[in-house]
Amino acid sequence: MPAFPEASAAAVRDSQLRFNLRKATHTIRGKRAAVVGELDDWAELRAAGKAIKDETLRNLDRYLLQLEEAVTRAGGTVHWAADAAEANRIVAGLVKATGETSVVKVKSMATQEIGLNEALAAEGVAAYETDLAELIVQLGDDWPSHILVPAIHRNRAEIREIFLREMPDAPRDLADDPRALAEAARLHLRDRFLSARVAVSGANFMVAETGTLVVLESEGNGRMCLTLPETLISVVGIEKVVPTWRDLEVFLQLLPRSSTGERMNPYTSTWTGVTPGDGPREFHLVLLDNGRTSVLADEVGRQALRCIRCSACLNVCPVYERAGGHAYGSVYPGPIGAILTPQLRGLDSPLDNSLPYASTLCGACYDVCPVAIDIPSVLVDLRAKAVRAGGHRAERAGMRAARWLFSREVRLARAQRLAGRLRRFVPGRLPGPGAAWTDTRDLPPIPEESFRDWWTRTSGGAKP
Ligand code: SF4
Repeated sequence: MPAFPEASAAAVRDSQLRFNLRKATHTIRGKRAAVVGELDDWAELRAAGKAIKDETLRNLDRYLLQLEEAVTRAGGTVHWAADAAEANRIVAGLVKATGETSVVKVKSMATQEIGLNEALAAEGVAAYETDLAELIVQLGDDWPSHILVPAIHRNRAEIREIFLREMPDAPRDLADDPRALAEAARLHLRDRFLSARVAVSGANFMVAETGTLVVLESEGNGRMCLTLPETLISVVGIEKVVPTWRDLEVFLQLLPRSSTGERMNPYTSTWTGVTPGDGPREFHLVLLDNGRTSVLADEVGRQALRCIRCSACLNVCPVYERAGGHAYGSVYPGPIGAILTPQLRGLDSPLDNSLPYASTLCGACYDVCPVAIDIPSVLVDLRAKAVRAGGHRAERAGMRAARWLFSREVRLARAQRLAGRLRRFVPGRLPGPGAAWTDTRDLPPIPEESFRDWWTRTSGGAKP
């Protein structure tokens, strides 16, 4: 993909997309603010969430081993995957060992991150998404553009068109109202749920002390996937572990309020290994690294691993609201994507190198983040790394020139005087790469006399 400015150009010109994004993000934003405002101890909850995540990340090796032991004790099998290829290989092998050629899926960022659906398709296994928004994305041969609402860029009329085109069982007189669309999806998915023998999920949290996995969702599709099939495979990033159930309690309050703007999400499913006569007979947990340990090694950037994927930062971001999610070229769009993707993938591609600049640094993302990730600080740190990694030549040259100018007082004074004399010849629009700056900003007028000279003249020669 091209760098973020080019990748976002089409979205910025698409007025329908901007209308959809604005309407959806402002609605969720309002709901979040209302339910967060109900709690007197929100600041304390937020601080507790941050502290629990930090302590867990500091001792991640210990908690992961504790988790593995607990899952194994409960009858599950733990697999460790260093990267996407290994995780995909493990999951494909497990599915093929069951003899099945299809799986049902619970919405999962981790499996999107590793491209699991495509990897399974290459092995002859069809993966069916069961979350409504993910289903819309999959049927539309599209990409998710929001963490919580992957089809946020689609409106009802577009969804109706996709259903009529891709769902043979959809009624031909399907209306574009939410109830009719949800009912069509429900009927379409029912057969899949009842015939599926293997399910693939992610998890919002993993409790180390008991080996329990937790999924929060709104539609009940997750509950069906987690309980009906005979084999359940969960692919989860290693940063999703929390030490105890008491720790989990904090996140069960922070997450629903921050994501859907609800006091409590409709379905919270938990499962621990296997239980004879109840739920899947086989359970596999694939613990995914895929760049997370190198993020953990970075003192500034590691706070991104605190993220609980609530999407509150997306809903308040002025850049995301205009550019949409596709321009970020990753399953993690918006402010969290701008700091997580370049850390997970590196800064080598034009897109990943430009992502730390996809922000105004206004700080709205930090204000709403339920685990207090200081996204602006990580962005600034990543910008320095992006410059060091190459690219941004104009910026580097500009900074070098500024250092040369500002490092000697006499040099700066002379430059100011010269600029004052030549002020009539300074163009309103800069040439070359500088044009990108003046296209959207006015150059401030250069004063005839600098402050330094004015001071010296009016204070009898005293230096400023
Ligand atoms: S960075 Fe914070 S606000 Fe954004 S998705 Fe993660 S937890 Fe939510």
